[in-house]
Amino acid sequence: MIKFKEYIKPKTIEDAYNLLTTKNAEIIGGGAFLRLSNRKIDVAIDLIDANLNFINEINDSVEIGSMVTISEFEENPVLSKLYNGFLKNVSETVLSFQMRNIITVGGTLYPKYGFSDLITALLVLPTEVYLYKSGKFSVEDFLKTRLEHKDILAKIVIKKENLKTSFQYIRNSEYDFSILNVAVSKGNEVKIAVGGRPAVAQLAYKTMQFLHGKDLNEEIIKEAAKMVSEEIPFADDIKASKEYRKKVCEALVKRALLEVM
Ligand SMILES: Cc1cc2nc3c(=O)[nH]c(=O)nc-3n(C[C@H](O)[C@H](O)[C@H](O)COP(=O)(O)OP(=O)(O)OC[C@H]3O[C@@H](n4cnc5c(N)ncnc54)[C@H](O)[C@@H]3O)c2cc1C
Repeated sequence: MIKFKEYIKPKTIEDAYNLLTTKNAEIIGGGAFLRLSNRKIDVAIDLIDANLNFINEINDSVEIGSMVTISEFEENPVLSKLYNGFLKNVSETVLSFQMRNIITVGGTLYPKYGFSDLITALLVLPTEVYLYKSGKFSVEDFLKTRLEHKDILAKIVIKKENLKTSFQYIRNSEYDFSILNVAVSKGNEVKIAVGGRPAVAQLAYKTMQFLHGKDLNEEIIKEAAKMVSEEIPFADDIKASKEYRKKVCEALVKRALLEVM
């Protein structure tokens, strides 16, 4: 079990950042994942009082503070309707409602867990990640960037666009992690993300380029699904082999593309 000597609830993100960078400290979001580790840290910085629990609809965007819990994607009137309930549906696949009431947006995105369902979904939406010190990134760039220093995820901003979306996953049981997950969005362009590879989700750039300017039909979808399974790198882990993931990927991408067609 995790052990810490001091527990602090800063009132601002600035105070939290100063603590984080001057001590052997760690940010606590919901604490759901962190509590499973047996690390020893000097200072636990709980962001609960740092005014990061906000959901604001501003023109064509929604900004979501890092301390907003995943259950808000089901409960909040704005978030639950965003992209016709796409993120609501994705969130509902994560554990139980009690756990989703604890798990935060910051704790989900910042650590870039490979099994994350929400990261895969956000990769196909126009989403920006705001870090307190390092500034603004697209989710795509944030996932690729290795930060040189500790930072704090302040908020994400999701732009509203006219996109059709689909999320597909496979897992051994309802409360287990995804063995593989796939998200697709279709507006003028098609975006395809694959996560649980088991590494963190990534976009299928070659296949997205192949689909550029094409109308989707069953033949093209079949070809594209195969391309994704060949383009994305998979690996073995305790849950599945890389060959299994490759096969499942083709089937899930096909299903997702048919859904947005
Ligand atoms: C048993 C279990 C099963 C799970 N199953 C799934 C699943 O099926 N699908 C899925 O998508 N996810 C799953 N998750 C992961 C979950 O969605 C969250 O990613 C995870 O719990 C972390 O969220 P948290 O708010 O509890 O963060 P914490 O546990 O508090 O923190 C996790 C890490 O993020 C850092 N952190 C937290 N907030 C910030 C911030 N604002 N800025 C910078 N760093 C920050 C912490 O320092 C820590 O290193 C599961 C988690 C658990 C515990």
